[in-house]
Amino acid sequence: MTDKIALVGVPCDIEAIRKAQALARDINQDWPNKVALTIGLFCRENWAYTCFRALVQDDYGVKLGDVEKFDIKKGRIIAYGKEGVKAEIPLPDSKVYVRVGCQVCVDFSALSADISVGAVGTPADCSTIIVRTDKGMQLVEGAIREGYIEAKPIEEVKPGTAIIKKIAKEKLEESLAEAREREASAIQVTHLKTADMDLEAVKAGARGKGFKELSYDVIDPGLCSVCGNCATACPDIKIENERPTLKEGCTGEGCEAAYLLCPRATLPLKVLEGSIFPNGTAHEEGIGRYIKIISAKARPEKAPRRQDGGAVTALLAYALDKGIIDGALTVKAGEEPWKPVPKVSRRAEELYETGGTLYSHVTIIPALRGA
Ligand SMILES: Cc1cc2nc3c(=O)[nH]c(=O)nc-3n(C[C@H](O)[C@H](O)[C@H](O)COP(=O)(O)OP(=O)(O)OC[C@H]3O[C@@H](n4cnc5c(N)ncnc54)[C@H](O)[C@@H]3O)c2cc1C
Repeated sequence: MTDKIALVGVPCDIEAIRKAQALARDINQDWPNKVALTIGLFCRENWAYTCFRALVQDDYGVKLGDVEKFDIKKGRIIAYGKEGVKAEIPLPDSKVYVRVGCQVCVDFSALSADISVGAVGTPADCSTIIVRTDKGMQLVEGAIREGYIEAKPIEEVKPGTAIIKKIAKEKLEESLAEAREREASAIQVTHLKTADMDLEAVKAGARGKGFKELSYDVIDPGLCSVCGNCATACPDIKIENERPTLKEGCTGEGCEAAYLLCPRATLPLKVLEGSIFPNGTAHEEGIGRYIKIISAKARPEKAPRRQDGGAVTALLAYALDKGIIDGALTVKAGEEPWKPVPKVSRRAEELYETGGTLYSHVTIIPALRGA
């Protein structure tokens, strides 16, 4: 029987796994179907690890190893050490380091996740939870009932959803402007033009295309989100230095699965959303489709390490404890300080070390193969 894995990721990870699930049968691979639940994190922008390190260590003179926690608040990246604030980095200073693939991402709140979680919209020690699907709703209701989290309707807290909509709109407008600029230089930003495509057209468009075309259409023009769908679908592709790369000895010819699954080649959002959301879910610009939005805080022991309210960790702990999932694919710090690496936890006790945000990019989807 296929394992049931919950996957936590930023919006581009969720888009990627949703596309892979829709096309799993076509590539005759089962790994996308292991994902039984998706938790998306709000994300305004992201950095490659080496760039984040350069920003903090080289530009601001703070050793990553001396930082206890990072937070993004009021337009600043704040690095906290044992004795308090070590650096406040205005977000505009980080712009030159933002991954080029992020600059054409229009999704702030992980629009296709079962549940989306973020800091904005809610008091400092809480998490905003946007519940989008029935599966997500059952999980959140169960976690509240069993005391893993306590929650209030978002209408009862400040600042509420207006700030989510504002940031989502800013991200959308910036990314569309960037896409227009790239198109003026003859780069086709195809994932923004294929939302209405049906799956037959997606498949027809990928026919006969392999790594060479993937490089030409997506990787070389700086559109790749480095989600890892290609490297998970095709054993001849690896992710090296934040870039899909062909392994030695492979011609790349006929590697259609990689091209077909790439969410930056085509992203047929309408079809994907049609298969994810129950009829009649509410929709608001910048929030997306949802059933309920709440402000939540985890019971201390259910999220001993946390970024905000610990909602992500507590929801996963509940799902593991109750056997709703067999594993949770999240991230933890690797050998280098603050470098995220994927981790699959099978028990809540293992999961707890993965709480908190590591503010740089990690390719998580290939970890599903071994999960
Ligand atoms: C790159 C990035 C940018 C973000 N930007 C914003 C933003 O602009 N506004 C906002 O409101 N929120 C943003 N968030 C989300 C926020 O930082 C918190 O993750 C979220 O509020 C959940 O907090 P929590 O206490 O409920 O989660 P916790 O219980 O602390 O769990 C956090 C989960 O996120 C996973 N995780 C940590 N780092 C990463 C990573 N790099 N990639 C994938 N998963 C990871 C952890 O493994 C853990 O499972 C961002 C997160 C990331 C990773």
